[in-house]
Amino acid sequence: ISWQRGQLIGAGSFGKVFFGLNTTSGELMAVKQIEYGGQPSASARSTAHALQREVRCLQSLQHANIVRYLGVERDDVSGVLSIFLEYCAGGSIASLLDKFGAFNEALTRSYLRMVLSGLHFLHTRPGGGILHRDIKGANVLVDALGVCKLADFGASKVLQADLTSSDGCRSLRGTPYWMAPEVIKQTGHGYP
Ligand code: ATP
Repeated sequence: ISWQRGQLIGAGSFGKVFFGLNTTSGELMAVKQIEYGGQPSASARSTAHALQREVRCLQSLQHANIVRYLGVERDDVSGVLSIFLEYCAGGSIASLLDKFGAFNEALTRSYLRMVLSGLHFLHTRPGGGILHRDIKGANVLVDALGVCKLADFGASKVLQADLTSSDGCRSLRGTPYWMAPEVIKQTGHGYP
């Protein structure tokens, strides 16, 4: 992707998100940049490589309520991984709550329906479901037309084996405030 970096939109625990312009198509994007170190070590390079593969896999997901992954670029010289995402002008639901206060019941219902529709798509994906495992206001983005999109699959895992396999659904992922008790206790969990 030939692109140019614009202003900073936000920052999370793993990187910064910038405004980006695809200089070929003119498309506006959000670019999440994760630094893995100048002159990165072999292990940092291999982690970045794994993340790059995961993003390539997520690029095939297409649904109105899922943020589109447009591509990924890895620069081992500067040690920066750039993940190109569909731009959502409204930012996250968490930031909208900060700006506008509590949503009314009708809007809450409408947003929730779209979140569930995105989740249903991930869970029923042919060839293996995806558990998001970090649903929270900061990870639900809203576009200019009010369409909610699930984002941040950093904690997601494509299910290869059965739900109860020891490394499948016993691992600990997510953000403590929004984690279910069975996830924190690591007793094994599934789609519900
Ligand atoms: P964490 O990664 O710690 O869970 P987070 O989800 O807030 O936190 P990021 O995913 O790095 O972190 O996003 C940081 C901020 O950038 C978001 O809160 C949101 O406001 C903005 N942002 C992220 N992706 C997009 C996007 N596709 N379009 C518009 N804004 C975005």
